[in-house]
Amino acid sequence: MPPRINAERLWQRLEALATITDPALPYTRRSFSALHADSRAQLKAWFEEAGLTTGLDTAANLIGRRDGREAGLRPLMAGSHSDTVPNGGRFDGIAGVLTALEAAHSLADAGHVLRHPLDVVDFLAEEPSEYGMSCVGSRIQGGRLGRNGLNLTNTEGETLADGIRRMGGDPDRLTEAVRKAGSVAAYVELHIEQGPVLESGGIAVGVVTGIVGITRYAVTVEGRADHAGNTPMDMRQDALTAAASLVLKAEEEAWDLNHTTGFFVGTVGQLVVEPNAANVVPGRVRLTVEFRSSSNAARQSFIASLQQFADEVAAETGVRIAFERLSDAAPAVCSETVRGAIRDACATTGVACIDMASGAGHDAMHVANAGPMGMIFIPCRGGRSHCPEEWVEPKDLAAGAAVLLETVLTLDSRLD
Ligand SMILES: [Zn+2]
Repeated sequence: MPPRINAERLWQRLEALATITDPALPYTRRSFSALHADSRAQLKAWFEEAGLTTGLDTAANLIGRRDGREAGLRPLMAGSHSDTVPNGGRFDGIAGVLTALEAAHSLADAGHVLRHPLDVVDFLAEEPSEYGMSCVGSRIQGGRLGRNGLNLTNTEGETLADGIRRMGGDPDRLTEAVRKAGSVAAYVELHIEQGPVLESGGIAVGVVTGIVGITRYAVTVEGRADHAGNTPMDMRQDALTAAASLVLKAEEEAWDLNHTTGFFVGTVGQLVVEPNAANVVPGRVRLTVEFRSSSNAARQSFIASLQQFADEVAAETGVRIAFERLSDAAPAVCSETVRGAIRDACATTGVACIDMASGAGHDAMHVANAGPMGMIFIPCRGGRSHCPEEWVEPKDLAAGAAVLLETVLTLDSRLD
């Protein structure tokens, strides 16, 4: 009998994990917390129930392996994360871990042995952790922790190195957790979309084309703080009105690039006005500009246009505008091989799919270092995520799990 996912078991596990939360702030399972350790103990028990050989790597990623039948083949990987943001949801991350587990469990139930080994992974700390770093476990696997990563501290002064040790890893031997380029046959991650596109289109699966690159700038507009009564309109250097025109320009530019490239978002999410008083002309404004696209050219064009516009505003109004780049994360492109396998899996299981970019970062972008990577998005109600209202219909989770299982089977037959 071909392997089939057990939708009821999958849903029961999801409900059981949702009970492992800070009771005062559902749903909260912060990485490195005692609750997170509890949820991992539960996951480990389930991994073992599914016949997986289970343990932690030195980065404290929880990994369950199902052996393959052909010697020398690199592992297929599937997974996501089980930590949450504070007051988060029941599906973000955990849906990917539990569907990967369900795929492995259904293989065991059917006595189906893949050619490749299959690793089911719960990555450590995907959400921004108390140490100020996100994607800790997958970053380490991708060899991207950086020299000072282990010295980051949380508010209690504990270093990330000690946090990893507390979670069962070994920070002195982190290189053992690194998956070198070419060491993974393929990685597939199922995740909720965290946006409204699939639900509004009535589509079961998004085949992710790539995870966007994210660039952030701090922009400082220096004008002059003056008396709001005695400074005539034509003699002001109002930093806020200049900043406001930049905000609108950023939006206009993002719209244009969204039309021409298919996916582009730009956001001014933070604005600090000084002195921020009703009767003073604003003297100084600091704002952040964040923009996301899988096209490096589009991100460059966006900031170039904004800087050129800022020069014009400065010349016109007398304010000074300075740009400082805060961060710039490269996009991760999903492999055509994995995307093709997901599309074929959707056809086999009879669900509709569309291509879409991921506007959010995921563990998958770091695993992309080690081998071909792809992602399966499933719809969530109203596009809501990172909040207690986050919801996925059981039928959509089951359909996603079936597509994930079929994708694994397809990749297993196609890859060496
Ligand atoms: Zn997530």
